[in-house]
Amino acid sequence: ISCASGTDALVMALMAKGVGPGDAVFTVPFTFMASAEAIATVGATPVFVDVEAGSFNMDVAALERAIEALAKADASIHPLPRLPEAELKALRPKGVIAVDLFGLTADYAAINTIAAANGLFVIEDAAQSFGASANNARAGSLAEIGCTSFFPAKPLGCYGDGGAIFVNDSELDTILRSIRVHGQGEDKYENVRMGITGRLDAV
Ligand SMILES: *Cc1c(COP(=O)(O)O)cnc(C)c1O
Repeated sequence: ISCASGTDALVMALMAKGVGPGDAVFTVPFTFMASAEAIATVGATPVFVDVEAGSFNMDVAALERAIEALAKADASIHPLPRLPEAELKALRPKGVIAVDLFGLTADYAAINTIAAANGLFVIEDAAQSFGASANNARAGSLAEIGCTSFFPAKPLGCYGDGGAIFVNDSELDTILRSIRVHGQGEDKYENVRMGITGRLDAV
């Protein structure tokens, strides 16, 4: 599903997953602004999970600790957002945005397993890994939803801004195409959900 930017791809993916205020999404602090910004844009709270020294990608052991820390509202297990205790305790963990930095994919075999065990969705931020592959699968296809950017500085740059979302689920596909055009329904002037102006420009 093409869209207007990598940031819109992430925002649309979170909207499609129904993420909003009171929800928590785990992501990394060492990435481009947009990975965490998209979470805040939909009103949710980013919970930062540190990266590992070798790859600069999400440390999967830290992800497990962060999930446990949030469940127990105990920042001694893993650092948590500095919110009033009642707000922290009320946060609902919803998903994970893992990032593939510098062309290296994150460890999705581990991340998808940990997420599934905890009822979390996984979004792959593949804005810096287009064209990479891991375990015979292409970057962008390593989690339930893959998001990429075609900003000129990225591995595949377009003439201006652009992005894309990759899914293998017809229901998500329908929802994302609707969100891309103001929540469009069957008809051009029927709007069945909240959406954005997320179209990819024609060159
Ligand atoms: C560039 C980038 C984005 C956002 O893409 P835009 O097309 O600039 O909105 C998101 N995540 C990462 C990791 C990026 O490098």
